[in-house]
Amino acid sequence: MDCIFCKIVKGEIPSRKVYETDNVLAFHDIQPAAPTHALVIPKKHIASMNEAGEEDAELLGEVLLAAKRVAEELGIAESGYRLINNVGSDGGQVVYHIHVHVLGGEKLGGLNV
Ligand code: 5GP
Repeated sequence: MDCIFCKIVKGEIPSRKVYETDNVLAFHDIQPAAPTHALVIPKKHIASMNEAGEEDAELLGEVLLAAKRVAEELGIAESGYRLINNVGSDGGQVVYHIHVHVLGGEKLGGLNV
């Protein structure tokens, strides 16, 4: 499958890993949008939240808990951070392998919802 993040999982494309379990991988974003910017992905290919099913509930929970762990590892947990999951074209999704952005290291601007 021609998926950049699947290739990162397989080690075919290098990444700066932050955290890894049997099911989840986290690595630094190649184009950081904040002083700290990591991505957390399930190793299983799920294109986006639109393709996630009930059978993925536990795995997606693991991804969210891994994001918290990543924030701790990168030293931004106490000051705070933002988790973002872009879905589809209007959501700004570019890579169609579901991922959670972990952003922090400064007071974040932009949309406040
Ligand atoms: P999206 O816009 O799909 O939510 O976010 C995709 C993210 O993946 C972007 O922030 C982009 O910088 C990051 N990205 C794209 N290709 C690579 C890559 O090859 N390596 C890493 N580490 N990040 C990537």
